Amino acid sequence: MHARSPVPPALPPLFHTSRPLFRHGLRSMQPAMAKLYFHYSTMNAGKSTVLLQAAHNYRERGMAPYLLTARFDDRAGAGRIASRIGIEAEADTFDTRDDLFARLEARLAQGPVACVFVDEAQFLTEDQVWQLARAVDDLNVPVMCYGLRVDFQGKLFPGSATLLALADEMREVRTICHCGKKATMVIRQDSSGQAVTDGAQVQIGGNETYVSLCRRHWRAATAT
Ligand SMILES: [Zn+2]
Repeated sequence: MHARSPVPPALPPLFHTSRPLFRHGLRSMQPAMAKLYFHYSTMNAGKSTVLLQAAHNYRERGMAPYLLTARFDDRAGAGRIASRIGIEAEADTFDTRDDLFARLEARLAQGPVACVFVDEAQFLTEDQVWQLARAVDDLNVPVMCYGLRVDFQGKLFPGSATLLALADEMREVRTICHCGKKATMVIRQDSSGQAVTDGAQVQIGGNETYVSLCRRHWRAATAT
């Protein structure tokens, strides 16, 4: 019997894809054209986990990622991206008033950034998605946005709608409904577990919870 040949360790994916980092191979070190990516999902699919793993893969190779997440209060600067499975990383924050092209330009002036990661990208404004697209095109930095596609009423978030329109590449981060089908929708539940069908698109600090469902079970829960 032959001894089994050792299996070479798999390299971690940088972009969750087999695409080469450099278009002409590593030897020429000519960077590929940067792209705007949109990783969309429903609630609790693990998109922050996917983001943090991808950012970690860059750090492991000595390349600097730049992490951004939405800010919901007046504390400027330091934020945190945390995943439900317990990993987390520090992140810079944005709110709707920030010019993200200017932000990325200033960050790049301080040193190289291999990739920009934006969590809670559904909270970007339409203008901010265009600012990120300009940064991709004019500053040649890849930008990977992670966000929810639709709200609890089944409507696109403005940031997600613009990302769906502008992104060069889109990936779905999948999760499943209790029935086993892919979950694409989310319900907002009040403290008694009842599905709520009206209210603000963004609600911070309430007692509501969110459950991801397939469309059929979302329709049953919301009587739609
Ligand atoms: Zn279902």
